[in-house]
Amino acid sequence: MDIAANLKKIKEELGKATLVAVSKTKPKEDIQAAYDAGQRVFGENKAREMEGKAEALPDDIQWHMIGHLQSNKVKYIAPFVSLIHSVDKLKLLKEINKRAKQNERVIDVLLQIHIAKEESKFGMDEEEVRELLQSDTYKQFKNIRVVGLMGMATLTEHQDQIKSEFNYLNSLFQQIKKEYFSEEESFKILSMGMSGDYKIALSCGSTMVRIGSAIFGEREYH
Ligand SMILES: *Cc1c(COP(=O)(O)O)cnc(C)c1O
Repeated sequence: MDIAANLKKIKEELGKATLVAVSKTKPKEDIQAAYDAGQRVFGENKAREMEGKAEALPDDIQWHMIGHLQSNKVKYIAPFVSLIHSVDKLKLLKEINKRAKQNERVIDVLLQIHIAKEESKFGMDEEEVRELLQSDTYKQFKNIRVVGLMGMATLTEHQDQIKSEFNYLNSLFQQIKKEYFSEEESFKILSMGMSGDYKIALSCGSTMVRIGSAIFGEREYH
């Protein structure tokens, strides 16, 4: 795998969108290679794995948690995580707020929306997001900042299906922004698009893509 070449090619296609290089399961050497090619934002899906990599790798890396996060794992990443993409419950947000406070920081998060046909994927529906944003509990959180939405499209060959899911997420993002964050400029991240569908995501208004295998090669799970 020529990580630097892959990065270069993808970056040319992104325009203003931010690239999260998804390094889950990959060794530190691969991350270092991407870092040496100029990449600073990396995505992981396991708290302990991210913690270990963050300790071993340069300090100016921005670590994004992109995978499903259990409340009892938040403490491992709270001191340093730069953005959590996968908030799907008030309970999780409460724990992130608590751990952020202990670390005397404010943690940026995205709310994950379920847009795919697959039941297995995580995320809230439209009603659940609104319920969360309107709750008094949420309004009291001082140590988290909601800066946008995240979603994963159905894994399918049907481009039209993917496109309609991304378009739906973009329209929900615009509505939520208007209704709840019109005063907050920081609410501006729409995280959608992976190796197989990032071009469609970009055409549907994505501002942040999460790309793993197209940079680092296929993952092996043991
Ligand atoms: C693994 C993963 C990605 C990257 O997937 P690729 O197909 O390898 O680009 C993106 N987002 C999430 C949430 C992931 O878990």
